[in-house]
Amino acid sequence: MITQAMLIEILENICKTIEENMSYLTELDIAIGDGDHGINMNKGFTAVLNKLPSLQDKDCGVILKTTAMTLISTVGGASGPLYGTAFLKASSVVNGKMEINNTDLLEMFNSAIQGIVSRGHANKGDKTMLDALYPAYDALKEAIDNNNTLKEALQAATEAALGGVEYTKTIKAIRGRASYLGERSIGHQDPGATSSYLMLNAAYNTIN
Ligand code: ADP
Ligand code: MG
Ligand code: MG
Repeated sequence: MITQAMLIEILENICKTIEENMSYLTELDIAIGDGDHGINMNKGFTAVLNKLPSLQDKDCGVILKTTAMTLISTVGGASGPLYGTAFLKASSVVNGKMEINNTDLLEMFNSAIQGIVSRGHANKGDKTMLDALYPAYDALKEAIDNNNTLKEALQAATEAALGGVEYTKTIKAIRGRASYLGERSIGHQDPGATSSYLMLNAAYNTIN
């Protein structure tokens, strides 16, 4: 169970993690994109961090919807609308709820992925954030179906996401700016897959 207070703490840690990894994410994007992924993400999550104090007593739906709208309105790059849509879809699963159970969590994650797909039309293996998120969802589902604790389930999801990040090094980009490089994108790690992994890792580290 994730209470709304825990959700705010998770978001705080995501914001901190993005800030700490701003240069790293930007370096990855310099190699195969336009070198702004860390800057875009940090701009968005700094704005989210500034909104969190006003969300202290709000329900999980409002907290996630505010996060979504903030990302959509502050991030210029492709990642803003994509992550914004992901948080927006997740928010609608927990409208009015003060806590998130494991069933909600799986539905949120699945809706978030569907939101990214409907917005960006990427497939598995196109070298995007989805290559971290799909395996993470599968691992989360398997762990929850097998009655693991939330901490264990998030650990499994985080490890799977990291595996997905490694996998992006081996494939050619089909979507996003990296696709302009074609075969030359092979050998490079996808920035968006990396930020997805970092966000999941921040959530995992927040949960006891
Ligand atoms: P931009 O490419 O506009 O500069 P960012 O650098 O912030 O935006 O984000 C780049 C990341 O966005 C990529 O590494 C990739 O993971 C993700 N991405 C780009 N296009 C798509 C898409 N159509 N579907 C899913 N993810 C995408
Ligand atoms: Mg970029
Ligand atoms: Mg850009």
